[in-house]
Amino acid sequence: MPELPEVETIRQYLNDVLPGLQVRQVLHLDSRMVKNGRLSSEEIARRLPGHMVKSLKRRGKFLFLEWDTKDHLLLHLGMSGRLIWVPENVPWVVHTHMVLDFGGHHLRLIDPRRFGRIGWMASGEDLVPHLGIEPLSHDLTAPRLIQRLAGRTAPIKSLLLNQGIVAGLGNIYVDEALFRAKIRPDRPGGSLTETDAKRLTRAIRAVLKQAIEHRGTSFSDYVDALGHPGQNQDYLRVYGRNQGPCSVCGEVIVTQVIQGRTAHYCEHCQR
Ligand SMILES: [Zn+2]
Repeated sequence: MPELPEVETIRQYLNDVLPGLQVRQVLHLDSRMVKNGRLSSEEIARRLPGHMVKSLKRRGKFLFLEWDTKDHLLLHLGMSGRLIWVPENVPWVVHTHMVLDFGGHHLRLIDPRRFGRIGWMASGEDLVPHLGIEPLSHDLTAPRLIQRLAGRTAPIKSLLLNQGIVAGLGNIYVDEALFRAKIRPDRPGGSLTETDAKRLTRAIRAVLKQAIEHRGTSFSDYVDALGHPGQNQDYLRVYGRNQGPCSVCGEVIVTQVIQGRTAHYCEHCQR
């Protein structure tokens, strides 16, 4: 699933090419993908032509195309979504759910599992008010994290996945951050000390920044806006490394299913 670094990699590329370009026509917008906001797919398709992209923003795993009208098109890539920028003559593949024609090039959303979403957000509207702290902003501090985890008995792995405490983390980067912070994934969130929280905030930032530098992690579906896989899978320390040696102590990396999600960790290093 694309997590924050993958979405950010796509955002950075598209933010170099899209601003200043105008939508000629909306060639396709699957109504089943429009799950957020008040406008239907037909209304969105009617509004977009003639409008120019101002910038691309990101919040957690959500992408926003900001238009000259200050309205935003919200995009979420779900489990298997790809957002690609291609010359118009590239044939459409199956599961293409959105095609915006910018004259010569298309912005296409391809999503085989259809867990992604599209929505229209009017200027000033907030369709993602439930999202937690933005991890690469100054808002992620140990005291704030401790405050949000206080009294929580759920495992820290699950709390970090739920987007309402910290936004943008999925299975891969939660496992990697907990490993670097030396925290067991099944620890109750409320049991984290201030020292744990300091290590965890530093670890979250470090794993996300490293992954963005390597243009995201490609295990199965993820590709960037040009269709290229990322390289960060070569730098992961625990995720997908089960039965392999821990890079710190040499013990075997184990897995445990925690509230339906598999956690990868080192029993020796993480407490
Ligand atoms: Zn270890």
